[in-house]
Amino acid sequence: MGIARGRFVIDTHVHAQRHAFKFKERGIKPDWATLAEGMPDVQVYDNSARLLYDMERYGVDMCVIMPAFGMTDELNAEIVKAHPDKFVSLCSGTAYIKKVKEGKEKWSIEGHCEELDRLLSTGIYVGIGEGMPGSMVPRESISWDERFKEICQIMEVARKYKVPVSYHTGTLSGYAGARRLGRVTGEWGNPSFAHDIAAHFPDVPIIMDHGGMQGWWSEMYMDSTLHVAASHPNVYLETGLYWAELYEKPLRDPNIGPEKMMWGTDWGASIPQQWVPGFYPSSFADQSRRQGIPAHQVDYYGWSLRQLDKAIDVFDLPQDDVNLILGGTAVKVFRLEDRLPHTRLFKQYLPI
Ligand SMILES: [Zn+2]
Repeated sequence: MGIARGRFVIDTHVHAQRHAFKFKERGIKPDWATLAEGMPDVQVYDNSARLLYDMERYGVDMCVIMPAFGMTDELNAEIVKAHPDKFVSLCSGTAYIKKVKEGKEKWSIEGHCEELDRLLSTGIYVGIGEGMPGSMVPRESISWDERFKEICQIMEVARKYKVPVSYHTGTLSGYAGARRLGRVTGEWGNPSFAHDIAAHFPDVPIIMDHGGMQGWWSEMYMDSTLHVAASHPNVYLETGLYWAELYEKPLRDPNIGPEKMMWGTDWGASIPQQWVPGFYPSSFADQSRRQGIPAHQVDYYGWSLRQLDKAIDVFDLPQDDVNLILGGTAVKVFRLEDRLPHTRLFKQYLPI
C-alpha cells in the first residue's frame, strides 16, 4: 500500500464504471458535441480493477462511487457487493432514466422519486447523486421555481432515508460539457440556488460536488459555493480538484473549516490536468480539445494529493484536521462509522 496521507482516506467522488465508445468498431468519427451529450447508447463496464489499483498505490482506503451519464446504479451495486470494505455508492435512478430515453416512460419527478425510494429502500446506497437527479432529456425552459419544486421532492426521499444529497457545482470547459449550465440543469451554474434547498431541509446534508471547482482555471463558482457552505450547518464541500491555494478560503472561514470539507476527486471521469507554467494556477483540471480524448486512465490521485500536501504545508494544518478532510467528515456525512477499523480515529472533544 502506498503511504497514506491520513488514518482512513476516503475519496468521496468516484466513477468506477468507464465508457466504451467503440468508435472504430461502430465506424463513428467522434465529435465534441456528441460526446458532450454522452452518446445515448454508450456502453459502460466495471472499471473497479483499475480503481482498486490506484487506491492501493496512493493509500486510499474507501471510495464513494456514483453514476454519471450512461453508468448504472445496478452495476455500482454489484461493485459494492464485490468489495464491501472498499466501496459505498450513491444512486440517481439510472434505470428509470434509461426507460425514459427509450421512450418507454414519460419523465416525471414523481416517477423518478419512486425509483430513488425503491433504490434507497434496498439499503445498498448511502445517498443521492451525482448532483440532483433530473430528466436528463432536453426540456423546454424551466424556471428555478419549477426546478426547486422538483428538488424538494428529491429532498423528501433523502429525508425519509436520512441520506445526503449532492448538488453539482460548475463544470468543465473543453468538450462542451458547459452546455449543461443552461436552462435544463441551471442549478449547476448557480451554486447560490442551493441556499433555498439547504434552508428548506436543514436536517438533510447537502454536499457541494467539486466545491465550486470541477475544472478550468476560473474561480467563478467558488465564492458562491463557499457562501452556501458557510451559511448552512448542513452543507458540506467536496475539495478534490482544488489546486493548493484554493484550500485557503474554506480552511480559514470560521463557518466552514475541515469539519465541513471532504476530499473527492471525480476519479474515472476523463479530466486531465492542464499545465501552464508561469500562470496562476500553474496546473488545473480540465479537458482540452487540442489534446483529444484521453484513452488512458487519467491519474487524479497523484495530482490531487500533491495539491493537498502543498496546502497542508503552507498552513501547517494539524493532522487531526487533515484526517477530517481525508475521511472523518465523509464518515460523519455518509454514516460510515461501522466501516472503520477502530473508534475514536477522528477529532472529537468533550465540552467541559
Ligand atoms: Zn463526477
